[in-house]
Amino acid sequence: MAETTYLHIVPGAIETGHWCETCQLPSAVEVELVVLGQTGVSGAGTARLCPDCTPDE
Ligand SMILES: [Zn+2]
Repeated sequence: MAETTYLHIVPGAIETGHWCETCQLPSAVEVELVVLGQTGVSGAGTARLCPDCTPDE
């Protein structure tokens, strides 16, 4: 049986106001990621996203 892992963004752990070098605005956000696997929950570091540069479609 293959192990399935899920990458989740932690709700409430979003830090706004980071500088985005692409659009030259402080509109980037940093989110905390966790992996949900068969061994439980473990941290997977942080990821920086910019809603202005990556519009939701
Ligand atoms: Zn941007």
